[in-house]
Amino acid sequence: MEIVRHVYQMKEICRQIRQRGRKIGFVPTMGSLHDGHLALVRRAKELADESVVSVFVNPAQFDDPEDLERYPRDLARDADLLIAEGVDYVFSPPPVEMYARGSKTWVEVEELSDRLEGASRPGHFRGVATVVLKLLEIVRPTVAVFGQKDAQQVAVVRRMVEDLMLDVEIVALPTERDEDGVALSSRNRRLSPEERLAARAIPEALEAAAGAVEAGEDDPDAIVRMATERLEAEDRVRVDYVRLVDARDFKPVPAVEGDMVLLVAAFVGEVRLIDNRHLRSRPERS
Ligand code: AMP
Repeated sequence: MEIVRHVYQMKEICRQIRQRGRKIGFVPTMGSLHDGHLALVRRAKELADESVVSVFVNPAQFDDPEDLERYPRDLARDADLLIAEGVDYVFSPPPVEMYARGSKTWVEVEELSDRLEGASRPGHFRGVATVVLKLLEIVRPTVAVFGQKDAQQVAVVRRMVEDLMLDVEIVALPTERDEDGVALSSRNRRLSPEERLAARAIPEALEAAAGAVEAGEDDPDAIVRMATERLEAEDRVRVDYVRLVDARDFKPVPAVEGDMVLLVAAFVGEVRLIDNRHLRSRPERS
């Protein structure tokens, strides 16, 4: 496995791979890898001939400088994990290369980017869309693999790819979880043992809501309330938002109908975690 530090090198390597008629599978990450990331890596390897994983903590998607500073980084450990997976290239450029001083061009996926995560973290999706476009342009993969854990991010990336007519297939995989249901996240490392226990409230809230939909609850507010109450029952948890939205446009649903996503963002202690669950309304019984 080769660790590539510079944009021009990564471009050249990928150009040569494509010239040999081989497909590139790409997984963008911010490092501190866990089994969720590795599931994406495995799929990318299955879907293509050569694999590229980027490890880049993207400053442009952090609205809070302290959050950026505290984000865990450990390239040596990440590299070991990726070698074990048989990855071909890791791309880990310095931030100044990705954002030359005075960078003036940004990608804005309108509307979708302003809701939910975008409302709580202004500029977040502008940073995400911009870095993903840059990475896709550097690597030019056949397929890029993302996690449904960041459901709104997948929607933003899909919309950008569609609107800008990019030649790449976007694949999204389900969320990998610990045994107790908590979604794997690089941020979980910052939780104390007590907070890690309290974090269980998040999957439990999603599960309770899914159970209610399954049982025929048809009031979206009641579903949101149920999930919120489960979260608020936990002292160490502070809810940022709980929303039931349409899976296509992420607008709140007026009725429990069709394909929906229940999204949760909550602080557990100081650590902000997100999770979501895909929900489908019960088919009408005749
Ligand atoms: P990050 O390093 O957090 O930016 O995540 C890189 C990619 O891994 C994104 O596409 C995430 O959605 C995905 N990812 C993060 N956590 C998980 C998880 N628990 N299961 C599956 N994919 C994940």
